[in-house]
Amino acid sequence: MHVAVIGGGAVGTTTAHDLAALGAEVTLFEAGAVAEGSSGRAAGVCYDAFADRLDADLATRALDRFRDRSGEGAFGFEDRPYVWLAREGDTRTVEAIESHVERMRANGLDVSLVSAAELGDRWPALVTDDVACAAVAENAGCADPAAYTELMAARAREAGVTVREQTPARLDGRAVNGDEYDAVVVAAGAHTRRVCEPVAPVPIKPYRVQALVTESVDIETPQLYDASGGYYLRPRAGGLLVGDGTEPVERDPDDWEREADGWFLEACEGYERRALARSFSVERAWAGLCTATPDGNPLFGELTEGVFVAAGWQGHGFMRAPAFSEILANRVVSGIDHEALHAFSPTRFDGDEDFEIVEGMARNVEG
Ligand SMILES: Cc1cc2nc3c(=O)[nH]c(=O)nc-3n(C[C@H](O)[C@H](O)[C@H](O)COP(=O)(O)OP(=O)(O)OC[C@H]3O[C@@H](n4cnc5c(N)ncnc54)[C@H](O)[C@@H]3O)c2cc1C
Repeated sequence: MHVAVIGGGAVGTTTAHDLAALGAEVTLFEAGAVAEGSSGRAAGVCYDAFADRLDADLATRALDRFRDRSGEGAFGFEDRPYVWLAREGDTRTVEAIESHVERMRANGLDVSLVSAAELGDRWPALVTDDVACAAVAENAGCADPAAYTELMAARAREAGVTVREQTPARLDGRAVNGDEYDAVVVAAGAHTRRVCEPVAPVPIKPYRVQALVTESVDIETPQLYDASGGYYLRPRAGGLLVGDGTEPVERDPDDWEREADGWFLEACEGYERRALARSFSVERAWAGLCTATPDGNPLFGELTEGVFVAAGWQGHGFMRAPAFSEILANRVVSGIDHEALHAFSPTRFDGDEDFEIVEGMARNVEG
């Protein structure tokens, strides 16, 4: 079986590798260089803290696969709990956290509500006096998404995949750049709508998010998401990685500002003070694209006969890439069904839906 994979991000490289491991002859097309898209710009925050059982199962499987790969090449997965919290006065988020934690625990996740005092005892550097509600997910960790993607491209090559960088793919039925394949997987991130256009419309909108890394800091923190403030942080390369949520504006995937905005750098000083009572100088800052769908869930599965799509991750594509890729490879090569292929089927939409870009995932912890 000859399969074309379009896109050399975390999803495309892992899928290409998994397809080849199952015996497929695979060609991966990447318009630029491997990891040049969103996977090279992501924060690498990973956790299983999803209220929905299917989301949690997929995240758990992805964490296992990351851990299995840790230590290979330049890729390392570092276990680190994920904390999300609401500050005083934000009653709506307090209620959301409490109800989501209850559902997570019912699904067997190692997640608990903690008091502000308990949070402060475990991580003394955190500002906790105005924390109204906090939860800790123990099954979580972080990784360098670019290192992972490059590792998977290398492993894919070893498994026999032909990786064609600097080769934009043009789709026409099951033909890519004029050659016919038995199946095509489109994992083209922010370009997915454009790539799929010749076969079927898909409702995906790219939007811009931003992150920075600070100077070196001597502070022990969890991976932290302040749901009231709309920012997150985690340790990275001796400093802290600080990121901001959604700018709910559709972007042209070929024409967007890659540098961080001045307002974002200023906002991060405020975020750092709010989280840690100090702010830090900036080593590096950048922007990247995420992708939104009408219901906040991915578009995943068969779009038209033999053409599969895996995109629309709502800012959570890296942490789930190993699980979704495995399911897709099993489906394409062996015809193995999985409930995710139905729950997230791209055919649940007409493709021309008018929708707002909304932060996060439809059914996750921020909901
Ligand atoms: C600042 C930031 C922080 C983030 N933090 C996190 C996080 O902490 N955790 C998390 O899970 N997710 C995070 N994300 C989201 C995450 O980056 C994405 O969900 C994930 O990387 C998507 O991977 P992908 O392989 O689908 O897409 P991409 O990595 O974008 O790969 C798609 C590739 O397709 C290529 N391509 C496009 N068109 C064509 C074509 N015609 N032919 C060939 N190739 C083509 C592109 O060049 C690109 O390399 C973050 C994103 C940003 C920007």
